[in-house]
Amino acid sequence: MTAELQHTLAKSAGFSGTSLHTGEKVTLKLQPAPVDHGIKFKRKDLADEPTIDANIANLKTVERATTIGEGAVRVHTVEHVLSAFSAMGVDNAIIEMDANEPPIGDGSAAPYVEVIKKAGTAAQEAPRRFFDVREPIHVESKSGSLLVLLPDEKFRVSCTQAGPNNRFTQFFSAEISPALYEREIAPARTFVFYEEVAPLMDKNLIKGGSLENAIVVRGDAVLSKEPLRFADEFARHKVLDIIGDIALIGTRIRGHIIAVKPGHAANAELARAIVKQHAKITALSVPRTFPPGEGGLDINQVMEILPHRFPFLMVDRILGFEGETKCTGMKTVTVNEPYFAGHFPGHPVMPGVLQVEAMAQVASILLMKLAKSASRIGYFMSADEVKFRKPVFPGDTLFIHAELIKARSNRLAKARCSCVVNDAVVSEGDLMFTFLDK
Ligand SMILES: [Zn+2]
Repeated sequence: MTAELQHTLAKSAGFSGTSLHTGEKVTLKLQPAPVDHGIKFKRKDLADEPTIDANIANLKTVERATTIGEGAVRVHTVEHVLSAFSAMGVDNAIIEMDANEPPIGDGSAAPYVEVIKKAGTAAQEAPRRFFDVREPIHVESKSGSLLVLLPDEKFRVSCTQAGPNNRFTQFFSAEISPALYEREIAPARTFVFYEEVAPLMDKNLIKGGSLENAIVVRGDAVLSKEPLRFADEFARHKVLDIIGDIALIGTRIRGHIIAVKPGHAANAELARAIVKQHAKITALSVPRTFPPGEGGLDINQVMEILPHRFPFLMVDRILGFEGETKCTGMKTVTVNEPYFAGHFPGHPVMPGVLQVEAMAQVASILLMKLAKSASRIGYFMSADEVKFRKPVFPGDTLFIHAELIKARSNRLAKARCSCVVNDAVVSEGDLMFTFLDK
């Protein structure tokens, strides 16, 4: 497994604008943050500058915009800035503000994308956390919102948006990547139907609201400062909002969100359902203790530790450990291995990459023994100095050696590995690992 790394901002950057609800000037400044920090808002205008975690547990209200808070401190309208962070691939950052909400800009996420690009992003030394959708999750609201999350290898959002009486029904669907988001989604602006905002305008609840930062639909007329940026701009903005609201789960998703008439309330409900399913799955992977001593492990013990299965389990048994830094495994290469059929017909040779995989599996067993628990997964990050010296044939017994040569913090480790057949080294390499809780 190769891991996608967490990212933060390369440096700080900021901009100023108007707050939607109060109409006052607000300055936003983005700061880099360490691994596993997540996204946090910091209220620079309050005593002690409290921070609020961008987490669904801190969700307060979902009326028209998403508000989060801790104690008495609130941050309003977080969805657009969180959407930009999530889609542009920033996992860890601090969003400093001198007001209770970010500047509204033009009602889209484009200003946030711009400031993120100004800061730049930087990879960090830990893998990203993902929620892999395993079974469909579905939420439905009385107001007609429907959201379904299905398994997918990538993160996709598909959305059908419809206004009152199904006016302006639009559909938009895309696999979310930074480039696509910046071009096709971030510029889509907030829109409101006049009949829905008239009461708020009467109550003076949207002081900063104007045609500068929202499209107003009155009857069949579209009122805005500049013309529509996309024919389906409303559906695109709904996708923008979904990405921002779902970002509150704190991990990335591999899955496909299909939304019909979504809103902040339904989005938040889906986020809560995701967190619930995620907790259920992680509760299932109970940490196992490692057999003590330097003795070997049989195939059942190996399979308790490694998630790999036939045909990708490349270790038959562990022969033994030497102290805390060395481990030897064994694999009998039989002619029945599925890869021999195609590698190569008439001249079967074990692929070199599978020998590297065997080394990675033995090394990760060693590393997990060191960590004294199998509740963490070692992700194979890179391989250096890999050399294939001799071919491996059916009938050979592979002895796989791994020696820990460097462990930086408890996150990163390097192992020098080799495969030996008949006392001759057939392949070798230095493998780098990082660890993640299951
Ligand atoms: Zn929005």
